[in-house]
Amino acid sequence: MEKKDKCTAILLAAGKGTRMGSGVPKQFMNILDKPVLYYSLKCFQDSELIDDVIIVTAKDMISYCKKNIVSHFDFTKVKEVTPGGAERYDSVYEGLKLCEDADYVYIHDGARPFITEEMLLRGYKEVKAVGACVAGVPSKDTIKLTDHEGLVKETPDRNAVWIIQTPQIFRYSTIRHAYDKLQSQKKDGITDDAMVLEKMEGHPVRVFMGDYRNIKITTAEDLDAAEIFAGKTKKM
Ligand code: C5P
Repeated sequence: MEKKDKCTAILLAAGKGTRMGSGVPKQFMNILDKPVLYYSLKCFQDSELIDDVIIVTAKDMISYCKKNIVSHFDFTKVKEVTPGGAERYDSVYEGLKLCEDADYVYIHDGARPFITEEMLLRGYKEVKAVGACVAGVPSKDTIKLTDHEGLVKETPDRNAVWIIQTPQIFRYSTIRHAYDKLQSQKKDGITDDAMVLEKMEGHPVRVFMGDYRNIKITTAEDLDAAEIFAGKTKKM
């Protein structure tokens, strides 16, 4: 594949992971014998698309992350390990400020270990065409929107419902502009990067096929599933 653009991955690992109920943030817990963060870093390290990686993590985890993950596994594409902010969008902004030379950015949750090169390539094709795209999978379940008392308000057509994952991939100038604008706005309810673009710019965002294994480690049972997925990949 011919590739002339510079692609930077921003790997988010500054969350506290309170829903896991463990003392250790979920991205640093182990799946089999390796930390959650190892798996997506390995994919970026081996990828022909990704040129460099910025890890955003909590200030007090920076030296641990540099020593026990980046150096230990020799992830030479990591160019910065930088402190994040209080919310996910704050952490993304810290990452964006450090990659002004990128043509495209892959923003990825460190809590999602199971990305693949195929997924990165599918995203690259879409971002070249549209400028903004997010990984997702069609919902297998019926989704219902409820009011605050749990009463059903609406059932969206299942054929149009996607469960959104990361990576979320953008032309750098487009996402940077949207995030710059966001700084002076109310940020309530922003849970992903595509929302920033939708809200600030009204820019189209395309969904491309992610992977049902591309789960976000959030609660204890996700770790059980992750061990099975990691075990299967190891055998292949
Ligand atoms: O909290 P949530 O599960 O949505 O977090 C998704 C990703 O964003 C995780 O990898 C988490 O570490 C990261 N995050 C972050 N900075 C925050 C909150 C979350 O980097 N302030």
